[in-house]
Amino acid sequence: MKTTDSQATIENRQDWMRLARHYVEYLKNQGLEEVMLSPKPEPKARPTLEWIREDLGECTRCPLHETRQNIVFGEGDSRAGLMFVGEGPGADEDHQGRPFVGKAGQLLTRMIQAMNLERSQVYIANVVKCRPPGNRDPQPLEIRTCRPFLDAQIEAIGPEVIVALGRVAACTLLETVDSISNLRGRLHERRGVTVIPTYHPSFLLREESGKRFKSEAWDDLKMAMGVLGLSARSTGDKE
Ligand code: URA
Repeated sequence: MKTTDSQATIENRQDWMRLARHYVEYLKNQGLEEVMLSPKPEPKARPTLEWIREDLGECTRCPLHETRQNIVFGEGDSRAGLMFVGEGPGADEDHQGRPFVGKAGQLLTRMIQAMNLERSQVYIANVVKCRPPGNRDPQPLEIRTCRPFLDAQIEAIGPEVIVALGRVAACTLLETVDSISNLRGRLHERRGVTVIPTYHPSFLLREESGKRFKSEAWDDLKMAMGVLGLSARSTGDKE
């Protein structure tokens, strides 16, 4: 007689049950009294920015804590589709405890507005949360120590696009040691998130950076807008 697929499945299951019963019987005869089934692993909870800030605490994990005034955690929309990552706080940021509030920050705000967005609609963070003295580059140990907090912030926010401002941010996020001029101008991918490296606003403010770099930075921002499906502010100044 022809067996249908469902009949075959039932018979198969019955065979397995019979086998399992025999096996349990065997274990019992061996003196085993209880069999523990391992519990189903809990799905990993997504971190929240509040937890991450709490975990960071009054951080003393690297030497930068010795000279900082304030930790600059980051700010903006906790569900932003677009995130900006800078290098580390400068003097103004250290003083106020907020990212990108000095001259470079004012330029970043204008860049965001040119994208037809407000600062409150994006999230702004830095690779290191404490000011490197004299605005020097953060050292590898400082970056390594602070990195889990940036990674957790990205996981919590879940942006579609990260614009990496400058070499330190781009190289940290992309785990490379390339130059910003080689990295910019194209889309990268990091754990499912699009990363767009561009010049740091402080660099764009320097006179020698001239028009060419500003226009390239604007090209990078337009690329981000393309991924996000945004159109530019028609009268926006684009620096
Ligand atoms: N430069 C940065 O990289 N980050 C800031 O927050 C300010 C200036």
